Amino acid sequence: MMISARNITKRYTLKGTPAVFDASFAAPPEGITTLLGPSGSGKTTLLRVVAGLESVDQGQVLFDHRDVTRLPARQRGIGFVFQSFALFNHMSVRRNIGYSLEVRGVSKADRRRRTDELLALVQLEGYGDGYPLQLSGGQRQRVGFARALASKPEILLLDEPFGSLDTQVRLELREWLTQLHQTTRLTTLMVTHDQEEALELSQQIVVMDGGRVVQVGTPSQIYDQPKTPFVAWFVGTGNVLRGTVEGAKITVGSLSVAVPSGVPDGSEVQAIVRPHHFRLEKNGAAPGRSVGTITRLVGLGGNVKLQLKLPSNQSVTVQLSRREAESMRLEVGDSVTVDLAEAKVFVANYSI
Ligand code: ADP
Repeated sequence: MMISARNITKRYTLKGTPAVFDASFAAPPEGITTLLGPSGSGKTTLLRVVAGLESVDQGQVLFDHRDVTRLPARQRGIGFVFQSFALFNHMSVRRNIGYSLEVRGVSKADRRRRTDELLALVQLEGYGDGYPLQLSGGQRQRVGFARALASKPEILLLDEPFGSLDTQVRLELREWLTQLHQTTRLTTLMVTHDQEEALELSQQIVVMDGGRVVQVGTPSQIYDQPKTPFVAWFVGTGNVLRGTVEGAKITVGSLSVAVPSGVPDGSEVQAIVRPHHFRLEKNGAAPGRSVGTITRLVGLGGNVKLQLKLPSNQSVTVQLSRREAESMRLEVGDSVTVDLAEAKVFVANYSI
């Protein structure tokens, strides 16, 4: 089932900035779409509007071609997973999962059958008779998913579902969610502020900033063709170099970045450079390149992250493969030449 939001505006107060303004996107059927943005950008509000937990001031929500804007939440056929587990600690895991069925008067035998299926689906067979507080955080959130799926929703809405878990468990659950989604194929809309989570999990990303949708696209479109400096900066750690165009390039210190044709001289532009787009060579400065000094070097698995101080005194983050860094024998204090051929350049608020 496709979810479409059309020109949604939502205000919590009569005056002041709306929490969501004129937001539109479509979440394709059977895919995972994430609402990604910093805290306060309106993600949760938009998710709750889709759920029917918040009314709208303007705009429409459609499930396929059906307008559900005025339909109460319980009639929308959705499953909702919250950041806080929101489980009943005094009820067994099984009863938590089947609670919505119990409320609807589903027979005990049918509830048992369905909760057994769900326990297997979320890989918690054998835990049904335990209680939430006997489970780990990751297991509790899997109970949250099973509960959301109990009444066979057509749409799954996830509000920072891994937000309260520590890094290792988050990573495991990401993998787990991918598998769960491959089994259920439910249209899923997920809120996250974690760009890595969004890039890894979703087929489509809706980037939000200040209540507005600023870009909708596949992870590679968002990462490789960001529409605004904000998107480039927020998704994938962009180093921002600011400068004035002169002769189709900007110069930052002794560093030159080519600007695509059509940008007039004198324009103030921002060049966004991904950490892995820096090409480094040890020693010697060739024309059009620049010398930077390594001030910090940290190994992270197969990659090495380093801080490079440019002549302009600006520090940038650079990422290299461990093999590259080792073959150059890079160390703190080394001076290196920098090639920025792959830098992406933006003018004001539009990309060129
Ligand atoms: P996000 O999920 O991106 O952090 P939210 O949708 O929670 O953003 O919030 C967007 C804006 O709306 C914020 O400025 C927030 O303070 C405000 N807001 C959220 N919920 C309420 C509420 N119930 N009442 C008033 N303001 C709210």
